[in-house]
Amino acid sequence: MPLRCASSEGDELSFEHDADSWVALRARNSRERHLRFTCCDAGVVLKTSSLGTRYFAHQARGGCDTAPETQEHLQAKTIICKALKEAGWLATPEHRMTDSDGVCIADVLGKRVSEALKGIAFEVQWSPQLAAITKARTDRYKEHGLRTLWFMKRPMPLNSKDVPVARLVSTDDGFDVYIPNEALVRGAEYMNSRELSDLEASWRRCGTLAQFVRGVVEGRFRFGLASDFDVRVTVGGVANWCYSCGAEVQPATWIVLDLGHLNPDFPNILVEIHELGEVEGSFAERILGSINTRLPKVGGYRLGRRKPKESQATYLANICKCGAFLSRSYLPYPSDKDKTLLEFDLKTTAEEITPFYKAIDRWCFTSQANPPSKSMLGLHGFPVPALTMPPPRNLRHPDRRAARES
Ligand SMILES: [Zn+2]
Ligand SMILES: [Zn+2]
Repeated sequence: MPLRCASSEGDELSFEHDADSWVALRARNSRERHLRFTCCDAGVVLKTSSLGTRYFAHQARGGCDTAPETQEHLQAKTIICKALKEAGWLATPEHRMTDSDGVCIADVLGKRVSEALKGIAFEVQWSPQLAAITKARTDRYKEHGLRTLWFMKRPMPLNSKDVPVARLVSTDDGFDVYIPNEALVRGAEYMNSRELSDLEASWRRCGTLAQFVRGVVEGRFRFGLASDFDVRVTVGGVANWCYSCGAEVQPATWIVLDLGHLNPDFPNILVEIHELGEVEGSFAERILGSINTRLPKVGGYRLGRRKPKESQATYLANICKCGAFLSRSYLPYPSDKDKTLLEFDLKTTAEEITPFYKAIDRWCFTSQANPPSKSMLGLHGFPVPALTMPPPRNLRHPDRRAARES
């Protein structure tokens, strides 16, 4: 039981020691032999791993059921314990539970207070594990009143509400935590193993393991879209002249919806103005209303529904003060030459956003310190061609800029 052993004074936890107190504990133990394991009668020796992790080892291993651990496993457990402690939680490494199947040991049990009936089992899995095994172990801990969070070198399953799994990647002084990005959540079944594991293309970094554990106990690791949130609406357009009255105007050509800091793992949604008229529901109406209270002052146009004589469908067109329509065939495609005409926020809900974007639910991590750079999708989740990707200029989120600079 490497991060924990017992003495007459109670639990002895290796992660609570610094180098000096570790030396003192070792000296006392070799004088008094006051440390013991709860798993077996083996003598306790104090060690420091090559990764710098302090732990307790069996003097002689024989007849003990605890499995040997890798250096990474020990180090990850130690980081988790320290992060829990720092957040004011109680951390119990190698928490033993007994049930009809025998003994099971959670790597780290985290509890808000010792009397709490519920807790979180933090499991570090450095060797590959079948999804079915992960599920079975998660179900077993649930019987003991624990939710489980898995940290894996090779995550399996990738995206399950019942079995949350994050990916651990070794760094110089510990680990970083990654979760699947939009591309992986949408496309895992079409990806080969190299694409599945490609950190840059398919995963999003959530910070260090310690930062991630902190977020978990603060409730910032969450499944699905937030129920209520602000959407930042950006309206882009181009400079133009009305063909009829000759006025200088700026028609709106696209909008981008940013689902806000509560939904950092969901992409921005690009909607061309004529498409906005095709979207049903209250949110499209509210966006249109908000644009029309502002756009005339900025662009000289307002948006109105237009039904060409030769067509069955109505679409949303820019209409000049003089009444002339700017037909959609004269609107350029979104490009990086476009200007931001308007920006405003609207409160909405996960349900109201559905006509624009059918979210595939996944585990999300909210962190002002490490917000991901958002990808962009077209209406209904269609990929946006690279040409039209970069519109929003002059309106980078302040925290997103910080992430890029760091
Ligand atoms: Zn033992
Ligand atoms: Zn005009």
